Amino acid sequence: MPDEITLTIDGAEVRTRPGTNVLQAALDAGIYIPYLCYYPGMKAFGACRMCVVKFDEGGPPGNQASCTVPAADGMVVSTVADDTKAVRKGIMELLISEHPHGCLTCHRIDLCGPADICLRHVSVNDRCVTCPKNERCELKDTVRYVEMDMDTPLTYNNRHLPQRVADPFWEMDLNLCIVCGRCVRVCDEVRGDSALTFTDRAGRSLIGTSHGTSLLESGCEMCGACIDVCPTGALVERDYKWDKAAKKVATTCSLCPVGCQMALEVDKRGRLIRAAGDLDAAANRGQLCYKGKFGLDFVNNRRRLRKPQVRVDGALAEATWNDAVGVVAERLEEYRDGWFAMLASPNGANEDAYVAQKFARTVMRTNSVDVSSNIRPELFPALGEMLGYQAGTNPTWELEGADGFLVVSSNVTEEQTVAAVPVKKAVRNGASLIVIDPRETELTRYADIWLRPIPGSETALIGGMIRVIVDESLDDHEFLADHCEGADALRNSLWEFDLIRVEAATGIPQDRIRETARLFARAEASATLYGLETIAPDRRNDCVRALVSLSVVTGNVGRPHTGLYPLYPGANEGGARDVGCVPGGLPGYEQVSDPEARSRLEQIWGASLPSAPGLGVRELAEAIRGGQVRAMLISGNSVNFANGQAGDLMGALEELDFLVVVDTFASELTEIADVVLPASTFADRDGTITNLERRVQLVRPAVGSKGDEEADWRIVSRIARRMGASGFDHESAEQVFQEICDAVEVYGGLSYQRLQDRGLQWPCLAADMADTPVLYAADGLDSKARLQAMSMPQAQARSDPAYPLLLARGRLLHDDARPMEIELVGKRNEIRRPDVIELHPEDAGALGVVEGEWVSVVSTTATLRGEARLNGPQKGLVSTTALFGQMATELERSDRPAPMLMVDGLPLVPVRVERLEEAAAD
Ligand code: SF4
Repeated sequence: MPDEITLTIDGAEVRTRPGTNVLQAALDAGIYIPYLCYYPGMKAFGACRMCVVKFDEGGPPGNQASCTVPAADGMVVSTVADDTKAVRKGIMELLISEHPHGCLTCHRIDLCGPADICLRHVSVNDRCVTCPKNERCELKDTVRYVEMDMDTPLTYNNRHLPQRVADPFWEMDLNLCIVCGRCVRVCDEVRGDSALTFTDRAGRSLIGTSHGTSLLESGCEMCGACIDVCPTGALVERDYKWDKAAKKVATTCSLCPVGCQMALEVDKRGRLIRAAGDLDAAANRGQLCYKGKFGLDFVNNRRRLRKPQVRVDGALAEATWNDAVGVVAERLEEYRDGWFAMLASPNGANEDAYVAQKFARTVMRTNSVDVSSNIRPELFPALGEMLGYQAGTNPTWELEGADGFLVVSSNVTEEQTVAAVPVKKAVRNGASLIVIDPRETELTRYADIWLRPIPGSETALIGGMIRVIVDESLDDHEFLADHCEGADALRNSLWEFDLIRVEAATGIPQDRIRETARLFARAEASATLYGLETIAPDRRNDCVRALVSLSVVTGNVGRPHTGLYPLYPGANEGGARDVGCVPGGLPGYEQVSDPEARSRLEQIWGASLPSAPGLGVRELAEAIRGGQVRAMLISGNSVNFANGQAGDLMGALEELDFLVVVDTFASELTEIADVVLPASTFADRDGTITNLERRVQLVRPAVGSKGDEEADWRIVSRIARRMGASGFDHESAEQVFQEICDAVEVYGGLSYQRLQDRGLQWPCLAADMADTPVLYAADGLDSKARLQAMSMPQAQARSDPAYPLLLARGRLLHDDARPMEIELVGKRNEIRRPDVIELHPEDAGALGVVEGEWVSVVSTTATLRGEARLNGPQKGLVSTTALFGQMATELERSDRPAPMLMVDGLPLVPVRVERLEEAAAD
């Protein structure tokens, strides 16, 4: 089959790929054919027939829907024949017989201002100004294109249906729906959710929720994709529903490491009113998630910090930048040479992280600099040791083409939501999915095999899988011979992973381990996604080594649709690591302990660098309490301080001599800070962010500062200059980035100019070099993959007798198996559903708990009550599963200024279980 075919559309020569439909070929070539049900990236539906064209040569006879006809070489197409235009007009007359059309056909459309004649014309109730999609309506654009008159022979049939406004974040007005089905199809075909469906109402087709009446019970993930594709005002965001955009700015979402490209719509008052995914973006192909779609209003929040503040006589008082920076510079002088530590924001830009580590190292002379979300640093080093780079190997959207997946301890559908979209799609198309996780998550519903090993035994389980693969000769002999060293050492260590021992260690039956190993190994292209969210820190390095070994042994590295995807929490944690904002690493993954690397950077920076190891975020609480760290600068959005994964850092910070907080809102942190400096959000500034597929993308200012707030790198540079340091006088983020590209070899060929078109994936060593979507492809392993011997992990001991069990909290979009009710509370729907606590029969027996009895699950911070079910998978493990809709309701109701930045993960929590009457007696 040729790579390209040529057809003629309205006399113009159009080249396209075989398989493209005629409508898309025309649109790609800039030729407009009207359409309503079609949407780029989705399958053709052929329902509205608005895209009819005629084929003079090479196509079917008569007027045909161009979205349903594949383009063919030599085809001659006419889009503007008279009878074609007449067909379109007729179709439109039918369509608007069920859609208010005063707003579409009014002769004053182009003349009328928002408060003109029509508003005084009381008999008109279908005005443009009463539609939230006014001037964003594709139906109106289409009506204009087909040149409809005001008079239509058909009478408008008002459906008189009530609007649905009780679910979180969105509103639905079915009186405006033209039943194009885009929303139903994007929900099903692209997101894999089927929360919306076609319904039949009094013999009339409409759309609606697929279970009951509320999105909360239909498995909606609140991604807003249905709103983005709706051509009319039928589906809209609740916030800023009526507001019109004065401009749109393309930028990168900074709420998680997927790095979705989005258009931010800003009104004439400078408020961010809407976000929509960029259809052409490689990182997200038009998709967003509940955070990116509905979680960005913090940008407009009136509680934003706008002025610097300095603590005077115990209270924070507004100050000028000059005074505040003066105080910081003077106080920090006392803490140079090791008494200082710094945490950069997980949502910051590469420029912020780079300047932060440069300041810590060259001005404060310490390597204690980290990102506050870096609570699972073990996700990366084994990738570097065994393969070459400490980074994910393949592009996110390549997952769509994988035949098999292994997902280990990752709630990816919530934490890196859009990365789960291609996984769900591939699985629906037949790819196999293995999930290893004690929690019930959305992907466990899709899994062919869901394993819940004894917590801490995951490495033993993966080792058992490798043992089966090697024993049954399912390994990729050729790949091992050509691309690996250490295969014998690995093979020789596998005696430890005898399946009898693995079964004893993991609690997973031998046959199940064999079945899992075969499923993974037999897939043509298997990808591994791992977040290790429920795995203890001391077990993570070995677990990642085992996962790398599994991928290498099966030849799933260096090819499209394979590879390893470390799933970390912070949006720009990957970029921060690239630019050296971690205690042990310098820019470009050079090691602090390497004198040559330090010397190279000393020459670039003109300052000497400390060699003593620094402290990471997880070590700081203890270091502060031990007096080794006495002053800190923390750049806000401190998502992980409350959940205990950085120890009691929040408590320890109160013991500091001096604390500077750079943040966007007042918080627990600013309450104890000596100086508070106002930070810009991602929507106010420029910079770059590197996502989980190593794609460096631009952040562009959309709304601009309304006060004195500034980008983190500018704030830190001010402090550095006041302390007499040189090398902090960049005038723009672009200048900082140029310095990054000099210091970080794998960024060597990048520039703002090259990043304009949706970013590039490192390594890209020179300006004339392409980027690298797949690492280690085509013999690109610098040296061979280095396999290592594995050893069986010891059983994980539970240390606290007061909390002897582990609670695994899961969350699903939808759960058919358990009844729920939707209750209207005020104006909003809420879910009512009793909790179920799953206990292992042996644990239940020891506690005297019987099936159906009500119990309390008590941790150090919370208590959960529910009905006991004695079906827990492992002794020592307690589990419970909530619904995503419950969280969505809480997020919408939250009075926090930025609730979507603070969504808690689902780590394992030490707990005890009490029978309810015992709890009551306490
Ligand atoms: Fe933003 Fe991540 Fe959601 Fe994309 S998946 S919209 S990057 S939070």
